[in-house]
Amino acid sequence: MPLPDQLNAEIDARREDLIALTQDLLRIPTLNPPGENYLEICEYLSNRLRGSGFTVELIRAHGTPGDSEKYPRWNMIARREGKRPGECVHFNSHIDVVDVGHGWTRDPFGGELVDGKIYGRGACDMKGGLAASIVAAEAFLAVNPDFSGAIEISGTADEESGGYGGVAYLAEKGYFSPERVQHVIIPEPLNKDRICLGHRGVWWAEIETHGEIAHGSMPFLGDCAVRHMGAVLEEMEENLFPALAQKRTDMPVVPEGARQSTLNINSIHGGQSEGDEDFTGLPSPCVPDSCRVVIDRRFLLEENIEDVQAEIRDLLEGVEKKRENFRYDLKELHRVLPTMTDKDAPVVKTVAKAIAQTMGKEAEYVVSPGTYDQKHIDRIGKLKNCIAYGPGILDLAHKPDEYVGVEDMLDSAKVMGLSLLELLARP
Ligand SMILES: [Zn+2]
Repeated sequence: MPLPDQLNAEIDARREDLIALTQDLLRIPTLNPPGENYLEICEYLSNRLRGSGFTVELIRAHGTPGDSEKYPRWNMIARREGKRPGECVHFNSHIDVVDVGHGWTRDPFGGELVDGKIYGRGACDMKGGLAASIVAAEAFLAVNPDFSGAIEISGTADEESGGYGGVAYLAEKGYFSPERVQHVIIPEPLNKDRICLGHRGVWWAEIETHGEIAHGSMPFLGDCAVRHMGAVLEEMEENLFPALAQKRTDMPVVPEGARQSTLNINSIHGGQSEGDEDFTGLPSPCVPDSCRVVIDRRFLLEENIEDVQAEIRDLLEGVEKKRENFRYDLKELHRVLPTMTDKDAPVVKTVAKAIAQTMGKEAEYVVSPGTYDQKHIDRIGKLKNCIAYGPGILDLAHKPDEYVGVEDMLDSAKVMGLSLLELLARP
């Protein structure tokens, strides 16, 4: 039998193992925040991969945001060397999952298998992808033990909260340098026939307007910061939102609605803070002297960060010209530059070919509206040959009754395995 057929048969034969592995991962609740059970899941992965001949390192990201003795940021990185020198293919999955939320009809940490779907928080985002990559690598090793290069599999912390205690930390330590790793596949749930080339950029900022406190019965003796902020928001409604909708991108962002610049007003706070939930009293009458909004601006490869910042600064300066006593502060909170891997990059071409072989159709190329760990591999690791590819339906991520389909995991494991054959099995 030709090697690709042997590999596919080997993956099909591991169906029960793939299901059990996914269920085991789902039964370790790795909620983030706060970042629970990272060591436990890393040890589980470590035992599994040591059993398959990998050398494993457990790395704690000391001192990164959220790292503490109670919630240490643990990461697992496994490597298996081939018989001859060659390139290294790395599968990176995040081990953390988001809050359960309301509306579940299944046990979020039960790993229930019903009608070919495995349910649980993190099933599609992205423990199903992690399990598929492990089974793909193990099946590849079974049919082709005499390979060149190396395979790496990592399980990393905190992707859902920015990845600073996970991929960013490892990239800073050189684990994603182009000398060590040549191809990176992140099995995020982008659907099994799609290749995600990158993501839009992010700019978070806080705008604060200032006023003057006074008695609420005589507001003319003070200056209302909330009204100043109202003027800022009005300016956004009138001019900024329509202008952003005009900025279209050639990036193949999905969903279609995100194929433009967007802005979300993430929060607004002004005046007295609300009392505790059990406080039954009334507020005291005061004119608010401060109002703050946090904005979440998503930008395109065609824009640069300086222009994105200038747009907001210009808006504020415009309001300042029109409004008496308007005083404000603008503070950047967070930034991520947009990134998009070239369609001709080796990992893209390889995975596209494997998708066509497995699914009998051409791969679709997409870009994510939000960011994921590729940002750190690109900016810190300086490694451009990176994509997201994995099983699971993107729309189910972070939702109640999240699941991953067993057939989808098998198909994407085949795509990953065939990619390994293409990249590492060459004589
Ligand atoms: Zn994810």
